Amino acid sequence: MIQTECPNLNGCPFFNRLALRSSEKVLKNLFCLSRYQNCARYKITQSGGQVPADLWPNGKTV
Ligand code: SF4
Repeated sequence: MIQTECPNLNGCPFFNRLALRSSEKVLKNLFCLSRYQNCARYKITQSGGQVPADLWPNGKTV
């Protein structure tokens, strides 16, 4: 069975910083619950790097 949910979803610190709950739902559907391999945060985690706190899954920072 192909895993579609990010293994880091429980406890991913990104969502603690997110003020807009509507954005959380959209991002989770776009990345965490489907194509998490495309998430910029996930990729850095997989490579053993330090994920910047303000890095969004789409690779942008705010
Ligand atoms: S933001 Fe990225 S690393 Fe965090 S749970 Fe979603 S897909 Fe995984």
